Amino acid sequence: MFLDPEGLVLDISSLTTGSNTGQFEIDCRNIGWELEDLEPVSEKGILRLDVNYREKNLICRGKLEAVFSTSCARCLAPAVFPVSEDIFAHYSSEPVEEGDDPSIRAFSGGRQLCILDAVREAVILSVPGKPLCREDCRGLCHVCGANLNEETCAHSGPAESGIVR
Ligand SMILES: [Zn+2]
Ligand SMILES: [Zn+2]
Repeated sequence: MFLDPEGLVLDISSLTTGSNTGQFEIDCRNIGWELEDLEPVSEKGILRLDVNYREKNLICRGKLEAVFSTSCARCLAPAVFPVSEDIFAHYSSEPVEEGDDPSIRAFSGGRQLCILDAVREAVILSVPGKPLCREDCRGLCHVCGANLNEETCAHSGPAESGIVR
């Protein structure tokens, strides 16, 4: 099984009918994360794939081992997380019929299949609900915006009098 490690394009002619397994070192930088506020911490990821190929249908299962960062929910510094979701995608070149599983993805039936969408999804689903740069992040002061992990300001500190001087 041959996969282009940059574009994540699978070479259909390298597949045999039935199960095809492989492990690939992929380049995580090329995946275009800007919109999701994601950044690969290390450029390399290990992608393990099991592609079940039957004429017009490809069922891809896999796992990506990679580490990404997104913005801390409290202070906006990088919050690092591992990719933990499994990859699953069913591609089919059969015409879509009413009642078909809506999660089935269209495949042109050509010699190449890009599985980038399925890999992106697994990364996006791995983003924690409340990403934190560290467990005890103190966040930003909501009055002056000071990063309370790095400094104290007139609005923070132990005296919670409620009076802002
Ligand atoms: Zn933080
Ligand atoms: Zn402040």
